Amino acid sequence: MSDHDVVIVGSGPVGTAIARELADRDPALRLLVLEAGPVLGPEPGGHVKNIADPSSRAAAVAAVTGTRTPPGATPPRPGTALVGTPAMPNAATSTNVGGMGAHWTCACPRPGDDEIPGFLDPAAFDDALTRAEELLHVTTHAFDQAPLTPTVQKLLGERFDRPGTRPVGPMPMAITIGADGSPHWTGPAVIAGDLWRRPGVTLRSGTLARRVLIDGDRRATGVEVVDLATGAVRRVTARAVVVAGDALRTPRLLWASGVRPPALGRYLNDQPQVMAAALVNERDLPDAPADGTAIVPVSGVSWVPYAADRPFHGQVMQLDASPVPLGPDVTVRAGQVVGLGWFCRKELSADDRVWFDDGDLDEHGLPAIRVEYRLTAADHAAIAAAIAEIKAAAAALGRPLDEPFVMPAGSSLHYQGTTRMGPADDGTSVCDTTGRVWGTDNLYVAGNNVIPTATACNPTLTAVALGVMSARALRARLRTEEETP
Ligand code: FAD
Repeated sequence: MSDHDVVIVGSGPVGTAIARELADRDPALRLLVLEAGPVLGPEPGGHVKNIADPSSRAAAVAAVTGTRTPPGATPPRPGTALVGTPAMPNAATSTNVGGMGAHWTCACPRPGDDEIPGFLDPAAFDDALTRAEELLHVTTHAFDQAPLTPTVQKLLGERFDRPGTRPVGPMPMAITIGADGSPHWTGPAVIAGDLWRRPGVTLRSGTLARRVLIDGDRRATGVEVVDLATGAVRRVTARAVVVAGDALRTPRLLWASGVRPPALGRYLNDQPQVMAAALVNERDLPDAPADGTAIVPVSGVSWVPYAADRPFHGQVMQLDASPVPLGPDVTVRAGQVVGLGWFCRKELSADDRVWFDDGDLDEHGLPAIRVEYRLTAADHAAIAAAIAEIKAAAAALGRPLDEPFVMPAGSSLHYQGTTRMGPADDGTSVCDTTGRVWGTDNLYVAGNNVIPTATACNPTLTAVALGVMSARALRARLRTEEETP
């Protein structure tokens, strides 16, 4: 008998959601979640922004933030470490219980139009998105009380709303608002609920999966793990293995395990990101006394949705502080400074890829991560259109505060496609529509890396939904095995 029914590699939002869905569907399952990084703060997988004490919060972030910023990159976002890949200078990862989900902004738009994989059953995908929203505690009402948010949405709606497309509105956010109005940001701890206390479910932090063990019949039999504190290596056995270790490290673990389908690491897709800032016009501000505070604890987040004929989506954040000096004579109302982030759809290419250098192994025998990545003419056109649109958005709001700028590749933190799913084993995908790796019986992949389309929207909700579908398919498969004499 195996040590566990399912071993899941990675405790980010997707790995945690898969564990939760499996456990909810079958409480008897014996589940092990492996996480290379440490627990940050008081609860495993809690969002660091929920740590009330500023010095404890800073310490939690510092525990995982890398310090080295190579040429061409901007400093890593707090909680992330740069991978160090010249073709994608801002490519980054988070290594801690909760993964990037302990640090993320929590924007959870649904995909639309051609962002949705056409080969998925629409009803099943819709149901999985609803379950993902439930697990992530997604709401569109988090910022109902935020200053000036209705004004921002009205101005942007007047500029961008079109018949037959999704309107400008509040960004769906993975947040719970407490009775006192304070936000609780969803980290994987929220997805887990009481999961880590349930019998048969184990979360093992500080434990690196360095190989998936595959037998001669292409069945995963377990995982070889390293206890990073002691260096001890051991093997855990399982009836199925799910790798949800992010879009750079999931394909690496498959590569290191000898699972190397032709599409592995290919179709790497990072959303080019254009940024700008604006100050809402005084004349558009509703009557209210200026309170003199530009810093607000809960700022609004609005959304200009993606449409297939408009290859980007807009995330509009009312900032806690102006990103540029506004001058001593400028007094702004809370919520009046607005940051605009436009994420572009990337044209997909098999040549955009992450690959693994067996000539450069780390102490655990895992190969260095290399990236090849190019923007096509269509990508440059999309970026130019996004720059024009973000200027229009800033003008619609009032006074642009700076020229739009394009962030270095990798800045979106939305890497996709590197173990993409597909309807057929034709060399252009790594897994089937349930996340099962082609040619294997019981090895699954999950995360943004399975998203096969060129999305512009923030991908976590989509990845969690696809993970929910994988968990359901895996549970059905395990049950069939149990029933087969
Ligand atoms: P991750 O969260 O990256 O978790 C993967 C985990 O696997 C990591 O903890 C890693 O340590 C572990 N792991 C990897 N390999 C191994 C191994 N071999 N053994 C053991 N453990 C391993 N997305 C949105 O949709 N909306 C947003 O608003 C948004 N904002 C963001 C803001 C920031 C600052 C950051 C950092 C990210 C943001 N993202 C956002 C991206 C979002 O966080 C990711 O899409 C999401 O976390 C992906 O979930 P995941 O579970 O697939 O991977």
